[in-house]
Amino acid sequence: MPTKIDRRSFLKVLGLGGAGAALAGCDRPSYATLEEGEEQVFSYLAPEEYVVPGIGVWYASTCLQCPAGCGVHGRVREGRALKLEGNPDTALNKGKLCQMGQAALQTHYNPDRITKPRIGDQEVTWPEALAHIQSKSGGATAWLTGAISGHQAVLLDTHLHARDGGGKHYAVETVNAQAWQAACADTIGDARPELHIDKANSVLSFGADFLGTWISPVKFMADYGAFRSAPRGVLTVIEPAMTLSGANADHWVAARPGSEAAVALGVAYTLASEYGVSTSALPSGAADAIANMTPDRVMELSGVEAQTLSKIAATLMSNSPSLVIGDGRYETAAAAMALNMMLGNIGATITPGVDLVPADLAMRNGSTKALADFAADALAGRIDSVFITGANPAFTASGGLKIKDALANIPLKIGVSMFEDETTQLCDVVLPLASPLEDWGTHVPSSGAGRGEIHVQQPLMEKLHPETLGLGDILLGLAQDAGADGLADFEDYYGYLRTAVSALIGTDQETAWQAVLQAGKVQAPSGERAFTANGALNIQIADTQAPSAGQLTLITTARQGLYDGRHANLPWLQEAPDQISKAVWDSWAEIHPKTAAGLGLKDGDYITITSSAGAITTRVFLYKGVHPDAIAVPMGRGHTHYGRYATGIGVNPLSVLDGTQDVRTGEFLATASVRVQATGDNRHLVRLMDVDQQYGRKLAVTISADQHRRNQTNNQGSA
Ligand code: SF4
Repeated sequence: MPTKIDRRSFLKVLGLGGAGAALAGCDRPSYATLEEGEEQVFSYLAPEEYVVPGIGVWYASTCLQCPAGCGVHGRVREGRALKLEGNPDTALNKGKLCQMGQAALQTHYNPDRITKPRIGDQEVTWPEALAHIQSKSGGATAWLTGAISGHQAVLLDTHLHARDGGGKHYAVETVNAQAWQAACADTIGDARPELHIDKANSVLSFGADFLGTWISPVKFMADYGAFRSAPRGVLTVIEPAMTLSGANADHWVAARPGSEAAVALGVAYTLASEYGVSTSALPSGAADAIANMTPDRVMELSGVEAQTLSKIAATLMSNSPSLVIGDGRYETAAAAMALNMMLGNIGATITPGVDLVPADLAMRNGSTKALADFAADALAGRIDSVFITGANPAFTASGGLKIKDALANIPLKIGVSMFEDETTQLCDVVLPLASPLEDWGTHVPSSGAGRGEIHVQQPLMEKLHPETLGLGDILLGLAQDAGADGLADFEDYYGYLRTAVSALIGTDQETAWQAVLQAGKVQAPSGERAFTANGALNIQIADTQAPSAGQLTLITTARQGLYDGRHANLPWLQEAPDQISKAVWDSWAEIHPKTAAGLGLKDGDYITITSSAGAITTRVFLYKGVHPDAIAVPMGRGHTHYGRYATGIGVNPLSVLDGTQDVRTGEFLATASVRVQATGDNRHLVRLMDVDQQYGRKLAVTISADQHRRNQTNNQGSA
């Protein structure tokens, strides 16, 4: 049965048929724009009463540059958002904001924003776009989104449930913590416990880049500051390619790709054998896995020596409480959780998360398994139409997934987006989305926000492009037109949201609403979860031997900045030097100097990296922070259709991943077996810090960490 779309709902929420959008923090004044040519157009010579020329006003809102959902304060002057900072009143980010959050201004003012709906290549009006959707849609529909929470998520579910043909939601995120969450669920019955880096005296990480992109990096950065205050906590990081967290570690250990779980079990073995730490309280299966992981076996699988395991075990024992984290593969995370149980960290540095009492507001965490499920359903003909927003699967999918074939099998694809990208290019209809700085919403952080703290998003300014529409308004219009109960009276998403938030806080008084907007958050009722014991844990260790001659293991790494590629269209973040290589505006492949020498490669040599799924060509960056069996290429660049700043810049390593899935979680592995071939070209990689040495000039005097400790000991002895 065709979808019933009443265009009046959309015209209403567009402001074309009634009241317009709101300025932040005030009670919805009507507005007029030159584009509409209606009513009167005011200049700032006659501003609203709260606008003082030259004086900035700060409004609280929410950062949507990644799924963490930090609280922000935005400075607005003469009706324009000019600066973003962290909201100091949020328990999550405590006044801090990362560079991706700061760059939300460039997302907002980006010259490549979509300003009008289109059908195929033709710009159309909203009524024309909606009529087209109405005539073409029918049967089973779907939403493919990034991570989503709050009242937008509630309306999304409402829309799908109200449709005659039913529907399904796929939440997709390439950078996620699915392995960690599955291991937590399997060991303590809570997939999203609270992690207290600030309460730990030592942190041991197996590939979880908590300072870069893992779960909630700004919260973890703030906690890390406390962790490094006296008494200074000790950070150990074990991973095949150095991350930002690894670069900050006291002790960084390169493990063969895929062998992190073996090293974690080896540390557990050493704790048991050298310190008598019991494994008896572990779920069955874990103790056997540890008993089998002798130091010799760890060496065989990972290349990590027994004395390194002893050193890590000694650090954990002498710096308690500790916190062990791990991600990437399920086994790694499960072994990390086994270590936490042995070390008594459960209840100390890992405590239960909270459940919101309105559970339907909770975060729908994204995964790559959801993308695999989506592709399977599309190829099987189980999806007749799909709305895609907050995700760019045609860019982020593993090459082995053949996502374009899957999308081609869906009769109607509707992109709801701020920008044209590789996915909207494949869509039949594209609807222009308002910027997060122009929109309303609520967002529930995945974890770390304290008890029941929901972040509120409000517009900082009027819409730059009048024909864009907020996601909440689009969802409300669709749900109304599908006949969803209880929504008919709402003029727009603002009205819906205000009513819903009033219900949460138990009052609809204006002063209470203004207090919510000023704080940028709502304290919702919540209940603390309780940990539960699990009877069994299945840790299967991969046989990670050195790759055969001519082969290397490709590692695709996410970086603070371009993230999964969504920020490649922001010049600030293209220009921000990579945390590891210091490179800008290009891609590179990190190769250990020993490996490069064996292949006859030098810095700047162009190489083609070929897997069973495809090939990319980029240049060599010699770097000791990568395991000799690995070659690491950061993700984020390599766009073919993402505006003037991203298109044609660098390569996309996700395109050569072969689509192998983790057995327990179904997540795509971020590694692939590849061959490397020099092309014969060599060109300089542009880096902000071009050399790693001082040529004897002693510009910065350095000493080793061991020497520093010896100096401290000597100083204390002589005091
Ligand atoms: S971690 Fe950074 S990008 Fe993500 S929500 Fe927080 S400030 Fe924004």
